[in-house]
Amino acid sequence: MGADALAELAYVLAGVGCRPWQRRHATWRQGGRGAARPLQLRLQPSTAKCDPMRPLRHCAWQGVGRVERQAVSAGAGPSHERTQAATRAAAELRELAEVAEADGGMVPDGVVPSALVAFLVGVGERAGAARAAAATVVAATCQAVQWASLARAREMAALLEAMGLHLPELLGGAGELTAPCAACGCNARQLFRVRSGTAEGDALLQTASKRAGDAAASRVPLKCQSRVREVVAAAHTRYGAYACVACAAPRMAEAQ
Ligand SMILES: [Zn+2]
Repeated sequence: MGADALAELAYVLAGVGCRPWQRRHATWRQGGRGAARPLQLRLQPSTAKCDPMRPLRHCAWQGVGRVERQAVSAGAGPSHERTQAATRAAAELRELAEVAEADGGMVPDGVVPSALVAFLVGVGERAGAARAAAATVVAATCQAVQWASLARAREMAALLEAMGLHLPELLGGAGELTAPCAACGCNARQLFRVRSGTAEGDALLQTASKRAGDAAASRVPLKCQSRVREVVAAAHTRYGAYACVACAAPRMAEAQ
């Protein structure tokens, strides 16, 4: 059975009601063997014949500025009258959303927009079950928003980690190796080498030399201290210093 047929089967199952609120979803096994393929709507790919996300897009009332209006097709409802009612409700839902977003809000008129229930009844939901169906639509929308936020947070964490920041309370990795930044002394998992010869590079090396020079000078007799400072500064000028991403950022910007 191909992806098209499975997507269509998931579409039908969603329509006749598997029991998502009990977290029981049908799965498909090719020939009764192999890996089980879940038949949840949101996991199905769009195909030329079947777009599993279409019902949810019909009910989208957030981000209408970015999302195109979904036309209600002629046979959407069980009768001509119901289809007409669904079309009117869809237009009303869209208008409510446009008004809310023009005001900078996201919620048209309450958590479950009134037109949503009318739309669901129009496309064939039983009146008695329409409220539960509307709640399912709202829950699916909230879940999508939550996933998007989670994905953004993970992306940000990967970015912070790649920059070498050591934030065990935020990113974990408390036991990972770190080294102190030559300029500020912060522990980082990755340091960047900054060399002399540019305005920002020299400014950073000056800070690093002051810091390392003070530390080295405190360990020798007074009369040798200025010489020790000179040697530290000369080493930095020659070899550069290793700095954390925050301290190295001005030099990186300069190099751009
Ligand atoms: Zn630093």
